[in-house]
Amino acid sequence: MTTLQAGFGERWVATLQATFADAAAALGDLDRQSGDGDFGTNITSAFARARGEAEEAQPSTYPEWLTAVSRGFLGTGGTSGPLYGMFFRELARCTDGDEPSLAELSAGFAAGLATVQRYGKAKVGHKTMVDALSLAVDALEGSSDENDPAEALGAAADAAQEGARSTAEITARRGRAAYVGEVSRGVLDPGAVAMALVIRGAAQAAGG
Ligand code: ADP
Ligand code: MG
Ligand code: MG
Repeated sequence: MTTLQAGFGERWVATLQATFADAAAALGDLDRQSGDGDFGTNITSAFARARGEAEEAQPSTYPEWLTAVSRGFLGTGGTSGPLYGMFFRELARCTDGDEPSLAELSAGFAAGLATVQRYGKAKVGHKTMVDALSLAVDALEGSSDENDPAEALGAAADAAQEGARSTAEITARRGRAAYVGEVSRGVLDPGAVAMALVIRGAAQAAGG
């Protein structure tokens, strides 16, 4: 059985901290074009909170690192705070040890998607993070523990990126962007772009 190498959780979180420090402003701009403009600051404060959680809890294993990120988002407002918080909580729960298998991670992403949809009620095509995440879950479903985890996660990140790209062609049906209707057409959904970055970060942390 292929497992992710020890320290994967810590590397993933460090990658996400760096990725979103760079991307937050552009994500905020996207939310300004089709939503209410708070996504950049929401994501920045979620990761600042996650850093605080990590300083306090001193995580040493994958579940502990992912729990710090989950708590960071759960303590943040907007719609994305609770949804990403619950998503990361499922990923934290997908394994006990510090070396999750690809199958455990795949199950974690699937459970994360189910939770986001249970609470957010968004379907594929509603121009949300679900559009990116669902394609990644589909891609991972086709992989097995025979596969190289970095490659499988890289393919999932490609699929998520494609899903995020597709959100430019649709009008929002959920979230604040739904209020502006047709104006959101042509603009990428920031939550979907962020979800693709989260999965790309996993691939990078896995060594891909
Ligand atoms: P808010 O909608 O409160 O301004 P944010 O700006 O923090 O929240 O996050 C917006 C992102 O959250 C959107 O780009 C979208 O991807 C995601 N989102 C909003 N509503 C939902 C929902 N019901 N289900 C899934 N994702 C959603
Ligand atoms: Mg917003
Ligand atoms: Mg808001």
